Parts: sequence; structure tokens; C-alpha cells
Amino acid sequence: MRADLQGLTAYQVADASGLVKLDAMENPYPLPDHVREQWTQRLHGLAVNRYPDGRAAGLKHRLRTVSGLGRQHALLLGNGSDEILQIVMLALAAPGACMVTVEPGFAMFRIIARFAGLRYVGVPLGAAFSLDAKAMVATIRRERPALVLLAQPNNPTGNAFAADALRQVVAAAPGLVVIDEAYAAFADRDCLGWLDEYPNLLILRTLSKMGLAGLRLGYAMGAANWVDALDALRLPYNINVLTQEAALLALEHYAAFQQQADLIRAERERLAAALSRVPGLRVFPSQANFVLVRVPGGQAPRWHEALRGRGLLVKNLDGSHGQVADCLRITVGTPEENEALLHALLAIAAN
Ligand SMILES: *Cc1c(COP(=O)(O)O)cnc(C)c1O
Repeated sequence: MRADLQGLTAYQVADASGLVKLDAMENPYPLPDHVREQWTQRLHGLAVNRYPDGRAAGLKHRLRTVSGLGRQHALLLGNGSDEILQIVMLALAAPGACMVTVEPGFAMFRIIARFAGLRYVGVPLGAAFSLDAKAMVATIRRERPALVLLAQPNNPTGNAFAADALRQVVAAAPGLVVIDEAYAAFADRDCLGWLDEYPNLLILRTLSKMGLAGLRLGYAMGAANWVDALDALRLPYNINVLTQEAALLALEHYAAFQQQADLIRAERERLAAALSRVPGLRVFPSQANFVLVRVPGGQAPRWHEALRGRGLLVKNLDGSHGQVADCLRITVGTPEENEALLHALLAIAAN
């Protein structure tokens, strides 16, 4: 085993059995009924004795249509967007190369960088979790990173960065820039249109947060020269037949998933307003399908455990980074789940 990997442990997933799961940004709604009915028929006819279409041409075509990707740009598919991040980092991890991102950010960025062998440089977020363009540009000038990677909206903070700050960062990057839009469906705007302006930009998306986390399908969009070069590192048949067929079907009913996303957005606003009335809670603005809250100092473990005791699982971020000390990350659930959460929080706050 490589010496630098000793001590690395498998990705930890909290045991959620019997709990309302509000910890992992899943869509709380099941597959729409009319999609579910066709699901079994479509899977029934599949030749699972054969390898899948290695290029997943049909699925790519459909993804292009629903995302409005121009012909001049290309698509790369991954077994979840995590796999695409892995492909990107493996491809860029030349000796001495590094990546620059913000902190607090998505935990997988650092984990994948570590095993891909890409040196990781994290730049702290500014006030109110804003993108500190000045610090980012200074770091980019100093480090000359092979990769600049940002989630927009950001996880775990939930906010979207100002477009002008983001543009300054993208323009300063000497190498590849990946904007991870895992939460695009819940945000007011996205950066897909920027692909025409920045030939070194990839936009990363996933079906996970839209209601298909179990399928594991992520995709990157950008210039064909980048996408084709990265495609060479993709393992053959990484998107299995079941995922290809199920995703294809789901995308034929894309409007139903967008409707769910709109429901979640509306519910996020309602939840955030109600959370801000819980004594002791501070609520941060969100453009994603989760809300970040801060509990009174030193109380995060107690609130987190008390919620679990009442059957609700959220993510405790306390201890993961200084800027999210005392913070819990709450995925937006169904109205009933959110009501249960609010009830529980009010009881915990009164204790
Ligand atoms: C959840 C998340 C992902 C993971 O997406 P998968 O497609 O499920 O692998 C990627 N990036 C960010 C920022 C996320 O929050």
C-alpha cells in the first residue's frame, strides 16, 4: 500500500435505519407513478447477459436535449459525478500538480485528490460563505493549479457564489476549471452558458439530487478536446445497462422531476422561514435542497443526538471546518418530514 494512503478509511455513511433521512440531500419523493409503471416494462426487455452500450449514445443524446447542451460541446458520463471527479483528478495528477478549491467545501474533493495524488489547496470562504475572489486569484497565481474546482451552489454551505467573483476565478485559472452544479435544479441560475466563453471549463451535473441517487449517474459537459481526453480514462461500460435504461426513461419524463425540484425549492423557503423562528437557531440562505443552520455554541452534538432520538437524521458539520462550527446541515424533506423536524427542534430548543 502506498505510504501516503495509510490511515485512509472507507467513506463513512451514517446508519439511517428507522430514521427520517435528512442527511444526504436525497429527493424525498418516490418516482412519479406514471414513470414507475413503465419502469418494470422497460427493464424487463433488457439483455443483461450483454455488455451495455459502451458509449451510452442514447442516454447522452437525451441528456443533451434536457440540459440544452450545444452541439459544439461534448458529454462525459460517470458512475455518479464522483467518478468523473476521480477521472479528472487522475488525469491531472502530474508530478507537482495541484488543485485549488474553497473550504468548507464538498468532502469528496479532498478525499479523491488524496488518492489520485493531486496536491490539494483549500482557500477559506469569505464573509457569509462568499467566494473570496481576491484570495482565490492570488492562490491561483501562486500555485498555477492544474485544476480549479468549485461547487456552485456550494456544499455544505448551500449558498451560490456571486457571478462576478466566480468569473474572476475562472478567468484567472491557467488549467482546467470544473464547476460542480450538483444542485443546479434548486438554484436560480447556472453556468452552462459560460462554456462558450471559457474553453477550459467543464460543468459537472448529477441525477442524484434530482431523485435518482440510487442510479449513480453523473455527467460533465464542455469542450470536446477536454472531454475526449478524459474519456480515455473512463473504464469501459462504467454506466451499466440498468442505469442507462432507467435514466433514459426518467429523462423522457424530465418535467416530472423538475416539478419535484420546484416543490422542494418552495418547501426549502417555507422550512428556512420556520427554522429562523426556532429560538437559538441561525439559518443561512440556500440555493440547494438543504439548509445550513447554526445552533448555540457547543450544542451541535446535543442537538444532533436529540434529533436522532426523535427519529430524525441530519448531518452534524461541527468539527469538520472552523467556519461551520456548531452547524447542522438539513436536507429538505417532504412537508410532513419538515413539520416533524420543526416540532423536534422547537422541543430541543426549549430544553
Ligand atoms: C452530492 C454531491 C455530489 C455527488 O454526486 P453523485 O453524482 O451522487 O456522485 C457531487 N458534488 C457535490 C458538490 C455534491 O454535493
